[in-house]
Amino acid sequence: MVKVLVVGAGYAGTLAANRLLKKVRGAEVTVLNPRAEFVERVRLHQRVAGSAEAARPLRSMLRDGIEVRVGEAEKVGEGSLVLAGGGTLPYDHLFLAVGSTARPLPGTVPVGTWEGAGRARAALAALPAGARVTVAGGGATGVETATEVAEQRPDLRVRLVGERIADMLSGKARARALAALGRLRVELVEDVVTGAGAAEVRLRAGGALPADLVLWAVVSGVPPLAADSGLDSGLDVDAAGRAVVDPYLRGVSDGRIFAVGDCAAVPGARFGCQTAGPQAAHAVDVLARLVAGREPKPYPLRYVGRCVSLGRADAVMQFTHLDDSLRTARLGGRTGARAKELIVRAAAFGSRKGFSG
Ligand SMILES: Cc1cc2nc3c(=O)[nH]c(=O)nc-3n(C[C@H](O)[C@H](O)[C@H](O)COP(=O)(O)OP(=O)(O)OC[C@H]3O[C@@H](n4cnc5c(N)ncnc54)[C@H](O)[C@@H]3O)c2cc1C
Repeated sequence: MVKVLVVGAGYAGTLAANRLLKKVRGAEVTVLNPRAEFVERVRLHQRVAGSAEAARPLRSMLRDGIEVRVGEAEKVGEGSLVLAGGGTLPYDHLFLAVGSTARPLPGTVPVGTWEGAGRARAALAALPAGARVTVAGGGATGVETATEVAEQRPDLRVRLVGERIADMLSGKARARALAALGRLRVELVEDVVTGAGAAEVRLRAGGALPADLVLWAVVSGVPPLAADSGLDSGLDVDAAGRAVVDPYLRGVSDGRIFAVGDCAAVPGARFGCQTAGPQAAHAVDVLARLVAGREPKPYPLRYVGRCVSLGRADAVMQFTHLDDSLRTARLGGRTGARAKELIVRAAAFGSRKGFSG
């Protein structure tokens, strides 16, 4: 019997747990997560705007035989996990899959966490017609949030502030995203939000703009678990607090621990379920090979594209080379929106089935 503890039940954690049961002989799998729901994080902007709930029972995502513990890990290392609030859980192997987080400026409400998105949804619902919403962050989360809010609440005045808006796309794909923002009457400001007051946002270039609600649409940083566990745990962290891993996705000095998804420092990887799923699947396969006395294979980083929703009826997908550099090929409009919805469903389906394409 091999006791495996999976910490975090997002895309990476649920996929790992389900795959462990299929692939690792004798695995006894326990999943630890702060809530009894699986949060479909890529739909949190929809939760904010009211076009989706973005959560389902965690049990419905896991195969029978996997034990679920609701709680948070405070520290891991030396074959034992310390629970916040007391108690320990032993493990032979541990999968660290605690994802990433948001670090909102005071006075702003984050979109990238379950709790923040819930607060943002309530605050948005309470705004009267004509109120001003500022979305801070010109990356994918900012563009998706601004378009979703503008589409669901055309009575509001939505503004998107980012250093260079939609910069994760290039050429015609970026132009398409900017055109969609224009069609939905989102005002674009290329600057950086440096603070928020009761009814305004302050900008790096100087000056302030009126705002009744400021949504912080930047995903950055990771939960402190790996950093708090310290070097003695067998985990080292990079400057961003992500767990440093070897080519097999194991902690650098403790082969019992694997780190996968947003919380793992894999060279060249970016935050994304397109990163989380394949890493989780690969790490499980490494463990399966080791348990069977076979040589593991190093993790091959591979990307396919970047897909950004622009409301419910439009999206832009730009294909990438395997190393994530952008290609000119793209999909847009309703075809793009259908592709995006399929990708979002496929991510949750893959996690539930323990499969990554
Ligand atoms: C609005 C939005 C849109 C996005 N759109 C896309 C997209 O289109 N495509 C894409 O590829 N990516 C997208 N992303 C990013 C994507 O959601 C993440 O990269 C992905 O969720 C990472 O998966 P993960 O399993 O590593 O982490 P997560 O999905 O974040 O799951 C981590 C889990 O660990 C739990 N956890 C945290 N700390 C602890 C602890 N101490 N103990 C126990 N459990 C803990 C968390 O509560 C959570 O359940 C989007 C993100 C946002 C916010």
